[in-house]
Amino acid sequence: MFPAILISKDGSGYHAELRSTDASILPEGEVLVRVEWSTVNYKDALAITGKAPVVRRFPMIPGIDLAGTVLESRDPAWQVGDAVILNGWRVGETHCGGLAELARVRGDWLIARPAGFTARQTMAIGTAGYTAMLCVLALEKHGLSPEQGEVLVTGANGGVGSVAVALLAKLGYQVVASTGRLAEAYHLKALGAAEVIDRAELSSPSKPLGKERWAGVIDSVGSHTLANACATTRYGGAVAACGLAGGMDFPSTVAPFILRGITLCGIDSVMAAKTLRHEAWARLARDLDIAKLESFTREIGLDEVIPLAAELLAGKVRGRVVVRVAG
Ligand code: NDP
Repeated sequence: MFPAILISKDGSGYHAELRSTDASILPEGEVLVRVEWSTVNYKDALAITGKAPVVRRFPMIPGIDLAGTVLESRDPAWQVGDAVILNGWRVGETHCGGLAELARVRGDWLIARPAGFTARQTMAIGTAGYTAMLCVLALEKHGLSPEQGEVLVTGANGGVGSVAVALLAKLGYQVVASTGRLAEAYHLKALGAAEVIDRAELSSPSKPLGKERWAGVIDSVGSHTLANACATTRYGGAVAACGLAGGMDFPSTVAPFILRGITLCGIDSVMAAKTLRHEAWARLARDLDIAKLESFTREIGLDEVIPLAAELLAGKVRGRVVVRVAG
């Protein structure tokens, strides 16, 4: 028996609870992992609360990220005792995930725990931080460099946003952080933001084009915020779109694309190729200041995950949350 967050759906509704369960609940997979650390991402919060149809099979153990040690393996790539991590691959959505002491997963979903990180640190980064790095890589591949001008980060006090601000600042960019929590602007300044703006500046319906300001953008908010970001990106600039915290719509026009040649880079962490994952984690090891990561990471136990999920969706969690599973 082992502890797990379990999501079920039946005639009486949608439920998430912390319970003791046995391994018969775990789906097929070549590798059994003892999960030491996990995390609560935005998608996990949607899954736990049932606010969006993230979970596709019941009962489900949520948790799109996990870090742990191999207990059993039928995959020659993995041996008992290997330190591994997993991000995405629809784990926690269609296949039981990381918010439990045991996970049985496919061997090709795992990567060796990246050098330079403890298991806890990989989960403090989690999908949110790895996605922030994917955004930085996309902007760099577009040709962005610090001398080109200001880079906007939206949803800056969230998980993706906090890591993005810290990464870009360390890389020498002039970061402008957009947040609804201006009272917490000092945290963003401490992460290296040059300026903090009120997210209300970006949340009204956008004009087709606005005054050119951003050389690049990392957007985790979507909707009007993404439309305004595109409309105010400088000629030839790029916008990395990864999130929908403000809405899934994109009420924009083609003007920024056909009159200013801007590029919208779509970012998906879930099914990203392994080569890209390795590149992102290697760059996180090089470019993320661990002291800054710690400064915006809060640690909780499995018993605190369910209330935390509602808090996160209410925009009350700053930065990242790491979950001690069997650490
Ligand atoms: P968090 O909840 O940690 O942060 C989201 C932030 O968005 C909040 O902290 C808040 O920032 C801002 N925000 C929330 N609601 C609104 C609103 N109504 N209008 C404007 N801003 C708002 O989530 P994450 O950072 O972990 O994830 C952010 C988004 O990115 C989510 O939509 C998530 O699903 C997506 N995502 C996508 C991935 C991918 O592969 N494409 C991977 C990881 C995440 P502030 O308080 O500073 O205003």
